Amino acid sequence: MRCPKQKNTELVASKLDGDLKCSHCESCQGHWLSADDYETWRSQQEKPKKPLSGLDFDLEFQPSEYDAKAGLCPECGSYLARTRIDLKQPFYLERCAGCGGMWLDRGEWETIKKLNLHVVLPHVFSSQWQIVMREMLQTEHERQAVIEKLGKDLAEQLFKLTDAIESHEHGDFAAAYIMRRFDRDKYLDLNLNS
Ligand SMILES: [Zn+2]
Ligand SMILES: [Zn+2]
Repeated sequence: MRCPKQKNTELVASKLDGDLKCSHCESCQGHWLSADDYETWRSQQEKPKKPLSGLDFDLEFQPSEYDAKAGLCPECGSYLARTRIDLKQPFYLERCAGCGGMWLDRGEWETIKKLNLHVVLPHVFSSQWQIVMREMLQTEHERQAVIEKLGKDLAEQLFKLTDAIESHEHGDFAAAYIMRRFDRDKYLDLNLNS
């Protein structure tokens, strides 16, 4: 099997994380995971309860210079489809639409491991996942805006309270209460202090 990014380089059998079989390019440091080998390994891993919680968008990672280069599947020759991981410095993971094998450029395995995405890899390529990812990014931006406006202490209190309200069966009642208070105070400010 040849490296999808450097057609003249032969991949060599290797392992990731001790027991995940892969094919490694010693030149560009990329890894090829065949669908079967990955599935065998994944079925032995503990399923994360919430793989996407606490996704660290600030994680620093410098993608490989081959990251943006398109490649063909080393196993079946099909085009490798890409999915974007939206860190501050975004990068792409690649998966063969034909056989389901996956290509990871240099450092990408270590990075998705830090994000806890390494055990849910095929999902990461679904359009549903892209939607969830965009929503999470949006939420993260909102969080940052709240911290900027309220200051860290009050923002932390608000996040804690929001978590508690969100998981409470009458949470909507609490949210409505806050909104009513807010509207009333705004009304009083506008009409009595002017
Ligand atoms: Zn290579
Ligand atoms: Zn393939």
